[in-house]
Amino acid sequence: MTTTDLTTPPDVLRIVTQAAATALAKARLLDGRMPVAGPATVAAWAEIFLRTRVTPAEAAQAVAAYYAQPQPWPIMPGDVLDLVHSARRTQAERADVERTRAELVARRADPTPRPKRYDFIDAAELAAELAGHKLPAVPRWPETTCPWCEAHPGKPCTTAGRERDTPHPTRLDAATGDQP
Ligand SMILES: [Zn+2]
Repeated sequence: MTTTDLTTPPDVLRIVTQAAATALAKARLLDGRMPVAGPATVAAWAEIFLRTRVTPAEAAQAVAAYYAQPQPWPIMPGDVLDLVHSARRTQAERADVERTRAELVARRADPTPRPKRYDFIDAAELAAELAGHKLPAVPRWPETTCPWCEAHPGKPCTTAGRERDTPHPTRLDAATGDQP
């Protein structure tokens, strides 16, 4: 039996062969039921790893993950592939979250300074964008009279005569609640 294929680059074959040898050696250390694998077994596992292009690091992680729980059977190549696929999915999802966060940070690093009182709006926008939603535009100062300090519509809330950075919570509730 051979794993050689005319369309397989030699470095890929070398990597999956290393991955197979790594998986088999590590499994043997962890599980006395595993055979000591000879070259034919390594080649057979490598063939199964070929399409997924399993790396030695991925193979070692998969074996560790498999034996981190009680297992009725010794590990099989398909178990390794399953675990590698799910690790890659998790990694892709994490990369996606990181990319979104980097984009938001880049956007917020906009050199145009903004008045401090807008910050509470940005925090809400950020939270909404992270959650995958776009917020409707919220007026900076609600077009309602503040029930707390009686600030006029569109005017800043005040505490003891000083302008606040953010509206009173009761005013925000009234402004963002259901309105006709
Ligand atoms: Zn107020």
